[in-house]
Amino acid sequence: MNREQVLASAEQQEIAFAQLEFVDPVGIGRGVLLAREHLPQALNRGINFSVSTMAVSLDSHIVVPELGVQAGDFWAVADPSTYVVLPYLERTAHLFADLVDADGRPWPGCPRAALRRQCAAAAQELGRVTLGFEQEGALVKRENGRPRWAHEGHFFNFDILNAEHPFLLDLVGVLRAMGIEPEKARAENQFGQIELNIRYGEPLAAVEQHWRFKQAFRHLARRHGLIGTFMPKPFMEAQGSGLHLHIGLRDSAGHDLFFDPDDDSGLELSALGRHFLAGLLAHSGGILALGSPSVNSYKRLLPGTWSPAHSGYAVGNRSVFVRVVESRPAAAGGPSAKRLELRSPDGTCNPYFLAIAVIAAGRDGVRRALDPGPALTGHDTAELSAAERERLGARFLPRTLDQALAVLEADEVLREALGPLLFGSFLAAKRDELESYHTVISEREYAHYLEHF
Ligand code: GLU
Ligand code: MG
Repeated sequence: MNREQVLASAEQQEIAFAQLEFVDPVGIGRGVLLAREHLPQALNRGINFSVSTMAVSLDSHIVVPELGVQAGDFWAVADPSTYVVLPYLERTAHLFADLVDADGRPWPGCPRAALRRQCAAAAQELGRVTLGFEQEGALVKRENGRPRWAHEGHFFNFDILNAEHPFLLDLVGVLRAMGIEPEKARAENQFGQIELNIRYGEPLAAVEQHWRFKQAFRHLARRHGLIGTFMPKPFMEAQGSGLHLHIGLRDSAGHDLFFDPDDDSGLELSALGRHFLAGLLAHSGGILALGSPSVNSYKRLLPGTWSPAHSGYAVGNRSVFVRVVESRPAAAGGPSAKRLELRSPDGTCNPYFLAIAVIAAGRDGVRRALDPGPALTGHDTAELSAAERERLGARFLPRTLDQALAVLEADEVLREALGPLLFGSFLAAKRDELESYHTVISEREYAHYLEHF
């Protein structure tokens, strides 16, 4: 849709409000609710925001002094091609915004512009990247004020899905109405964790469909009396919620560039695919910081939990950082395509940042013709001895957010990909968040210290 078409359909659909939204470095959606009559202004000139909006921590502190309240504005300009009606709110539309400076040039803090730059560079150097976001989320209730899982059942069984039928029906209907294709849903753990796969696509579109999916999931769960959460590890006893990112690469004619059935390593990966994969491994620490950016993320990334604690890759192995997705041979109806599944991220990330990091890391791997080293095929990384891990190159990934941020800070490729403003703002906001864990006194401390010392 172009601007005129957006205005015409908003009028025809009797839209009352339009949400104009962008995502800040720590993955919080920010924006403004416009009366329909003011939509032309958002589409043309944009709506101004203090630059501080993109430099705020989860405790709402402004974390970058140069982006303080004295530092002026950027303008959020609605992208008409992203217009949808939000089916779960009355008479309300939604658009994503590009952030521009006073002269209308991309503002250096615009995540969409940074992702477009990455995609354009990838298109020149490699081909067209596709991304598929496979998000797991948990349905949670409160009991005496404490969060508690909503179900007790079995994973991959239908009882939980049947019990949540009204929620799932609503969710699928809402996604379809927003032009998002839901493919399949499953109960991922025995406590009410649900995974819903939506179709892969071009990076920017895939990121924004994923964003809309998350908001719909949270909103509709609330309407059904539950908390729908993408917190990575809400309960110690239960498997956490991952955001598995499926990465593909094609040429302009649509041919898959990762697939090579004659690859003698058995991975069915082209040389390009191997280098891209090696780039992901080489930047694993930085990818962890950007894709698993919360204190809680590191309570999910533990050995023996179906989520990766070590660097490394393999075919048919869900304990590794990157899974080379297995396929049936072409003769058995298998696809003639290969995908890489990055298994570390979670739903607390800024998905634009995750996409930027993955593409930049892959490009770097190809540029430097990196080798991914031996595969961990057949090994559950949780079961390997230290000596075997050493031999196979299965190093521990950063164990805490603190460690991951330190690795990210030294990663020049990812710094360059995000640009200094977004990179600096992300680091500062995350360090502010970490600081709060060092100062706020937790239940755990009372258990350890209050009555024993
Ligand atoms: N829930 C697991 C995770 O935290 C993943 C399970 C699966 O392989 O889908 O990543
Ligand atoms: Mg899953």
